[in-house]
Amino acid sequence: MTDADVSPAEQAIVDDAISFAAAEIEPRAERWERERRFAAEAFAGLSGAGLTAMLVPTELGGRGVGPVAVARVLEELAAADLAAAFSVVVHNNMARAVATSGNDHLIDHLLPRLVAGEVLGAFLLTEPGVGSDAAAITCSAARDGDEWVINGEKAWVTNGSHAGALNVYAQTDPVAGHRGIVSIVVDPELPGVTRSEPYELLGGHAMGTGGFRFDDVRVPAAATLIPVGQAFAAAMIGIDLARVLVGAMCCGILRRSLEVALDYTANRPVFGSAVADKQGVQWMLADVATDLEATRLLTYRAARQLQDGEDATIMAAHAKKFAARTAQERIADCMQVMGAAGYRRRFPAPADQAGGRSDQAGQVANPLPRHLAAAKLTGYIDGTTEIQNVVIARRLWDRLTGPADAPATERERV
Ligand SMILES: Cc1cc2nc3c(=O)[nH]c(=O)nc-3n(C[C@H](O)[C@H](O)[C@H](O)COP(=O)(O)OP(=O)(O)OC[C@H]3O[C@@H](n4cnc5c(N)ncnc54)[C@H](O)[C@@H]3O)c2cc1C
Repeated sequence: MTDADVSPAEQAIVDDAISFAAAEIEPRAERWERERRFAAEAFAGLSGAGLTAMLVPTELGGRGVGPVAVARVLEELAAADLAAAFSVVVHNNMARAVATSGNDHLIDHLLPRLVAGEVLGAFLLTEPGVGSDAAAITCSAARDGDEWVINGEKAWVTNGSHAGALNVYAQTDPVAGHRGIVSIVVDPELPGVTRSEPYELLGGHAMGTGGFRFDDVRVPAAATLIPVGQAFAAAMIGIDLARVLVGAMCCGILRRSLEVALDYTANRPVFGSAVADKQGVQWMLADVATDLEATRLLTYRAARQLQDGEDATIMAAHAKKFAARTAQERIADCMQVMGAAGYRRRFPAPADQAGGRSDQAGQVANPLPRHLAAAKLTGYIDGTTEIQNVVIARRLWDRLTGPADAPATERERV
């Protein structure tokens, strides 16, 4: 048995993801990128495919599967398009947070709508002035009777363009630092909420990333998702799984890029034989294959640790760092062995591919430019590559001096 193995019951959800990616994501991904817009059609079909609430217990309407199966699902979705896959992650995390931390009001009124795919969830921690040092957020929440009054700005909100339920992290008491942070569900249609235009990016537009402004936004106290004192710690606990899922998504884009490069080089003649016959090319793709194996081993080791209830913080940081770096470097290698065709979003099919993957015009869609841009963004989401090193380095010294007394959230502060 390997760390990536799932039970027969969990294999069903992986199979659902493979079908969903082939039917709903892959054929549209290039258009989302070209039109620089959110993957709305994919979200519309997500609930029908049973992928809106993977981490929600079955008794609350979810699929109730573990981290390994979810990682396998994300690997498959990302192989089609990482941006659409990350949108799915963010929505599922919101559903999980409501199911595990929500009060009766949120579980009765919001959770069924998230599970049914009627509203799209978003996670609002980052601000224009605060990213890595997340405990330093300045967006404020003040109590006024039975309401919160929220003021401030949030940036880099995945799903921001279409989200209908915002999980907003806000500071109630700047002196208290991370212990003053609360998480509140905000309806973006409330007076005082302004949604920005989605950002123009290098790639990944299917995530609909944008910002929000809150001016004296009044929200009922019943919309508190995680109370003051617990919200920041809860966000940090969820981050280990989020990092594992970034690793899994990198496996998906790297695997698909290798497949495309193998196909192309086998069919493209140069100097009297296929490109794939050249040993220099074979060795480059052999290195890609080795690094893909290594990324999968780290990623699914961390996923298995989470599934077994072990502390996966360090392994998740190793996996995410290695996966992001590897995807950036090795997808570029896959493009290189394809010559200039690797750089085009569609290229003329080599003779043996005509009638296979090519369209009527004899062109083959090439996902590598999209996957390379997506690989770059994996170095930022859920903590930058440098922050993974901060987490890993902290524990290296803990080994010498014994575990620090401070809770994990404290020690992970930079
Ligand atoms: C496409 C995309 C989607 C995103 N989606 C979301 C989302 O849905 N919700 C959300 O809340 N956020 C989201 N983010 C934001 C993401 O979490 C932040 O970009 C990330 O936390 C880094 O913050 P920053 O970009 O402000 O960089 P900064 O914190 O300003 O860091 C700048 C540079 O300094 C480095 N650095 C910082 N501290 C240290 C240190 N101690 N040692 C060494 N180097 C250091 C960083 O690694 C980085 O290279 C998204 C980002 C992207 C790109």
